[in-house]
Parts: sequence; C-alpha cells; structure tokens
Amino acid sequence: MADHHELLRLDVIVMLEATDLYKFFHTADEETLALRGVSVSVAAGEIVAITGPSGSGKSTLLACLAGLDEPDGGMVVVAGTPLSRRPEAERSRLRSRHIGMLFQSNNLLDHLSVAGNVAIAQRLRGRTDNRSIPELLEILDLGHRATARPSQLSGGESARAGLAVALANDPDIIVADEPTGELDVEAARAVLGILAERAANGAAVVLVTHNADVTEVAHRIVELDDGAVAIRQAKP
Ligand code: ADP
Ligand code: MG
Repeated sequence: MADHHELLRLDVIVMLEATDLYKFFHTADEETLALRGVSVSVAAGEIVAITGPSGSGKSTLLACLAGLDEPDGGMVVVAGTPLSRRPEAERSRLRSRHIGMLFQSNNLLDHLSVAGNVAIAQRLRGRTDNRSIPELLEILDLGHRATARPSQLSGGESARAGLAVALANDPDIIVADEPTGELDVEAARAVLGILAERAANGAAVVLVTHNADVTEVAHRIVELDDGAVAIRQAKP
C-alpha cells in the first residue's frame, strides 16, 4: 500500500528551497565561512524559524534566501525558479514578484507617509492586483496613521508599518530578520499574529529569531551553529 505520508506530501508546495549553500567573506587578513552547506526548504503555509547564536550565519542565510546576496556555492529556488547566479535585474524581478522582506531597521523612507511608503513598495514591485492601501493599513491597525511620517510613529507602529511595506504586494514568501527584536510584548505579538495569519493563508514564512515567542509560532525550527545546520526540529 502506498505510504499515507507520501500521498500527503504531494500536497506540499515548496515555495523556497535552498540546497547546500556556501558563503565566504574575505576581509583583509581573514576568511570567514559564514555558510557551510546549509539546506532548508519552506512550503506554502509553513513558518520556519532560523535560530542559533550570534555569528552563526542566520542573516547571511536570509540574505541568500531573499536573493539580496549571492551564495558562493549551492542554489536557491523561489517558487520553482532558480534565483542564484542570475543577473541582478532578474533576481530583483523574482524577488519583487514573490518575496516580502522585513528587517529590524524597517526600510521606511522618512520623507514619505506610511501610506506613501506602501504605495511606492507596490509600484516598485510592479503588480497590479495589489490589495488596496487603506485595507492593508486597516489590517495592520494603522488606518489612523496613514498620513504619519515614520519619525512620528511609536516602536510598535513603526514595526507594523515595516510589515505593511513587506506585505504591500501580498507576497507568497515572507522573509524576516528578527522581526520582533526591538518590540515590546504587545507589538511583537501583533506582528507574529499577522505573520501567522499570512501563513494560514498560504504564505511561506522564514523568520530569524532569538526569541522563544517567535519560535512558538513556527512549525519547524532550524538551528544554525557556525554556518551549518546543528538541529532541525519539527513541532508536533
Ligand atoms: P548571525 O546573523 O547569525 O549573527 P551573520 O550571518 O551576520 O550571523 O554572520 C555570520 C558570519 O559571517 C560571522 O562570522 C560574521 O562576522 C560574518 N560576516 C557576515 N557578514 C559579513 C560581511 N559583510 N563581511 C565579512 N564578514 C561577514
Ligand atoms: Mg543577524
């Protein structure tokens, strides 16, 4: 009889797949091997947390997954299309089509309002089927802050505005580096709730975190140590 689990696996849609990634950094008198053969895949609807000590390669892995950086070895495939070793213009097109990025410093443009930041993110990504900006801001409880400048926002509002920019194009992959790192408990919970909701709606979510609350929402945890996967843990 066919294995039941095997049949179920057919329903898994791998959105993001990294195979055997290597990344070197050269400085004047040193060579760092930041990634030493890391493989990780993230399916639609899944939240994967990347953990590990400082310097273990988490941010480097995330940058490679998002195509912001090129691995020196190995391959990243996004929604079935190879992302690695392509011209930057193509990587950037693939990124804008599929990936929403959220970083601790939330890349808001200071001279634009919250709504303006979301609008420019949508325009840069060149899709026409975007969610309306008021609707998106409402979901993130920022409706009343649409015209505010980033400098006028509280920490929590600022994090949610960064999330609004990341979600502007309704990405099917969300990549976040310590998204709750500088947030208080309430704000962190709101951000995690939204990411969990996006996953429940089919997004593939990868989060780098030190925070136990964040690993709580993850379906799987991949722990890095010194540029390699030390532990893989699937949650029941
Ligand atoms: P983490 O996010 O887990 O703290 P990083 O991915 O930032 O780790 O760094 C992994 C290793 O690569 C560290 O040893 C770090 O010093 C090194 N590294 C990261 N980025 C660079 C860079 N741009 N130039 C040189 N070394 C780097
Ligand atoms: Mg880091």
